[in-house]
Amino acid sequence: MTGPQRGDGVLGVDVGGTKVALRAEAPGRPAYDRTFRWPRGADPAADLAALAAEADRLREAWGPVGAVGVAMPATTDPAGTVTTWPGRPGWAGLDLAGALRRLFPDAATAVADDGDLAALAEARHAGRDDVVYLGVGTGIGGGVVLAGRSVPGRSSAEIGHMVVALDGERCDCGRRGCLQSIASGPATLRRAGAGRGAEVSFDDLQAGLDERRPWAVEAVDASCRALAAAVVSLGELLDPALAIVGGGFAAGLPDFVPLVAERARAAGRPGRPAPPVRAAALGGLSSLHGAVELARGLTGPPAPVRSVPTL
Ligand SMILES: [Zn+2]
Repeated sequence: MTGPQRGDGVLGVDVGGTKVALRAEAPGRPAYDRTFRWPRGADPAADLAALAAEADRLREAWGPVGAVGVAMPATTDPAGTVTTWPGRPGWAGLDLAGALRRLFPDAATAVADDGDLAALAEARHAGRDDVVYLGVGTGIGGGVVLAGRSVPGRSSAEIGHMVVALDGERCDCGRRGCLQSIASGPATLRRAGAGRGAEVSFDDLQAGLDERRPWAVEAVDASCRALAAAVVSLGELLDPALAIVGGGFAAGLPDFVPLVAERARAAGRPGRPAPPVRAAALGGLSSLHGAVELARGLTGPPAPVRSVPTL
């Protein structure tokens, strides 16, 4: 190497509702890692100005990039326009693909669903081609990787809206019994609060589990059973080698993933055991690493992931 070449770096951007993580990688150079918070006000123009400032900062501090992959929690249409994003509603209608082309005029850019990208990164890290990934946080995201590729190719895997309880609680989407209406972080805390008769914070829940309080144990068990039901159903349909459970809420409770694994194992049937359940290895960084993979795919062979090329 004779020093950084123009565009030899790849950039992954993990866009969240409150903050954004960036990671740039290139052969023979230390990676660039940076996280920033969106400005207050949720104004898309101010958000894009903040992103532009970060792009300049990256170029000055680290160098140019030849490809940019963006992990988005929002729904985007095939042209790369945001259709809905409950996390930052003002982004609805934003031409994200066009904005990325203006921010990185010399780079190939692409956007994909953050759950799909997290699944891809976890599958790569586990060295498996057939994996389902469930991320438990404010909602439940996730993705499916079969033969090394994200499926379904024409849209994202919406694991959080799998129906696991016909008469279950109402989901944000309006339907009853979606996985995330039962097993998301907020849903678990709500159920624990109802059992305790007082509001329960995440710290309260951790303490309650340590002390084996029934309101804590039962609330978490109900979530783990719902996740196990989803894992078992995904196993019946797709027969993945692994079910990987991640997300901030699951990561904060040490017994959570083992309990999902135990409940899933118990729900297997002769001839079709449930897929083994493992904790995510990349933690909160899985979708960021997936975004880097997406960018890398733009520079070489076609990326094995649903993507919206914008160049
Ligand atoms: Zn739903």
